[in-house]
Amino acid sequence: MKRAVVCGAGGFIGGHLVERLKQEGLWVRGVDIKQHEFRQTAADEFLQLDLRDPESCVRAVLVDGKPADEVYQLAADMGGMGFIHSAECEIMHNSLLINTHMSHAAAHHGVPRYLFSSSACVYRDQQPDEPDLTEKEAYPAQPDNEYGWEKLYSERVALAFQRNMGMTVRVARFQNCYGPYGTWNGGREKAPAAMCRKVAAVEDGGTIEVWGDGTAMRVFTYVDDLVGGIRLLMQSDVEEPTNIGADERISVDGLVKLVAEVAGKTVKIRHVDGPVGVHARNHSSERIRSMGWVDRHSLRDGLSRTYPWVKEQTEKAMARGEKV
Ligand code: NAD
Repeated sequence: MKRAVVCGAGGFIGGHLVERLKQEGLWVRGVDIKQHEFRQTAADEFLQLDLRDPESCVRAVLVDGKPADEVYQLAADMGGMGFIHSAECEIMHNSLLINTHMSHAAAHHGVPRYLFSSSACVYRDQQPDEPDLTEKEAYPAQPDNEYGWEKLYSERVALAFQRNMGMTVRVARFQNCYGPYGTWNGGREKAPAAMCRKVAAVEDGGTIEVWGDGTAMRVFTYVDDLVGGIRLLMQSDVEEPTNIGADERISVDGLVKLVAEVAGKTVKIRHVDGPVGVHARNHSSERIRSMGWVDRHSLRDGLSRTYPWVKEQTEKAMARGEKV
């Protein structure tokens, strides 16, 4: 039986990936600094390890003294735009240590296949009407934030180990991802979860606050589709970084309206100052599509699956008297 290790298994995408690998019949070890906040892990084994520590990375990749067949590196000090702008030092320190030590441990202990979760944040800022950026247009590099620079550097670390140590490395550049069982409050949540929470918390006809002027254009990919892309890329022979993301584009205000429609509410928007990020993210999904990837969920469909879960969390928290 193939043995897979998912680092970041206590997180949003890692939790879904573990579930998918189990459905496909693999033996799975989950690794994270914490247990999953919202559900029991589906992994056969779960190791609570701090992957900033090189020895912990070695423990993560060795199963009964032998290298795991596949290692998926999704652990990161991670959050939405609010976190990315306020925690630059944590991101640059923690995620860099995790990625450097993980690539090193995996390569030096003979892991045959290693996937690194990079991000669309490696690309420069764009205007909404610009043509799509292909993977090679991440260079000349001009990421909009330190999170993007860390990802770009860590891509290069992993790819150096591929070139020099013979480890097969796959680099996935994820677009914004959303779905149930992800962070939905507390400052690390991303826009779709935040909008679902705000809409769930407000009365019908009420007003919610949105950072910026609402015109920034975004692409959101439903988590099941993203996980399908991760599996496809891991099994492929594509050596270059590969974008995984849907093509459906929407403005931030459009996202709020769509969430409200799914919720069956009318909401008014008040635009306030806040960290917005890039004007637009247009990246080409041609490479992953040429491998047979299909995003099965429209944004409306994905939000219809996500909103009820966020609504339930929001209502439970409000019933406990917590501020949401
Ligand atoms: P997440 O925060 O839910 O999961 C990351 C996990 O890493 C968390 O459970 C966290 O506890 C763990 N972690 C952090 N520090 C650790 C440490 N020192 N040791 C061990 N584990 C540690 O984030 P996610 O949304 O599931 O993202 C997974 C990966 O995908 C990350 O690398 C992220 O940068 C990347 N990514 C995500 C998105 C998105 O939209 N969610 C977009 C682009 C890229």
